Amino acid sequence: MRIDIITVLPQLLESPFQHSILKRAIDKGLVEVNLINLRDYSTHKQKSVDDYAFGGGAGMVMGIEPIANCINSLKSERNYDEVIYTSPDGELLSQKMSNQISTLNNIIILCGHYKGIDERVREHFITKEISIGDYVLSGGELAAAVICDSVIRIIPGAISDETSALTDSFQDNLLAPPVYTRPAEYNGWKVPEILLSGHTANIDNWRHDQSLERTKKRRPDLLK
Ligand code: SAH
Repeated sequence: MRIDIITVLPQLLESPFQHSILKRAIDKGLVEVNLINLRDYSTHKQKSVDDYAFGGGAGMVMGIEPIANCINSLKSERNYDEVIYTSPDGELLSQKMSNQISTLNNIIILCGHYKGIDERVREHFITKEISIGDYVLSGGELAAAVICDSVIRIIPGAISDETSALTDSFQDNLLAPPVYTRPAEYNGWKVPEILLSGHTANIDNWRHDQSLERTKKRRPDLLK
């Protein structure tokens, strides 16, 4: 899989890909992530990519020209399955959506800034708009990092224990059960007896019951 992220702040996106599971997935060649500086596609002397909003009002708007230049240049090299724009009014990111994106070959993620991007970019270049929650961020970079993390970690081979990602919350519409590690007793607080029993089938049943219970209590909407 290849992910091209278009941003005015590539430095902001370097660290998330240099550690842990994402770094390993990149090192193994399971995914290639390119940070593309939108300013490189500006034809202005100052490399600016934004301008005042038509009709007035506070806040700058990212213009169509550098974005179009950048996306067209990428598209001339290869086909893209999706051109994603991170946006608070987009479709809410879900595990189901991340699963689906992880099966794609080439995607672009465009990070917005300021007041957002010229609407014509959304109409003519963007194929999918994703929000990571009902709040407003300063820019799309952190949203892009969240999308990439949730997508890359489920690419087969990214996590060493293949089953691990499948037992996380939201796969099967259930929240994950509680987990414990050594010591078996701390300050008089004990780990549930069954987890020490070594009886795999009973442990699986217990975990499933706990998942169900937790989902009923915390996220009944998932069970509908
Ligand atoms: N004026 C816009 C917000 C702009 S915030 C509005 O009211 O809808 C600047 C940029 O941050 C956006 O263009 C978008 O790319 C990104 N962004 C902000 N909140 C986001 C969210 N919840 N999910 C994904 N991207 C977000």
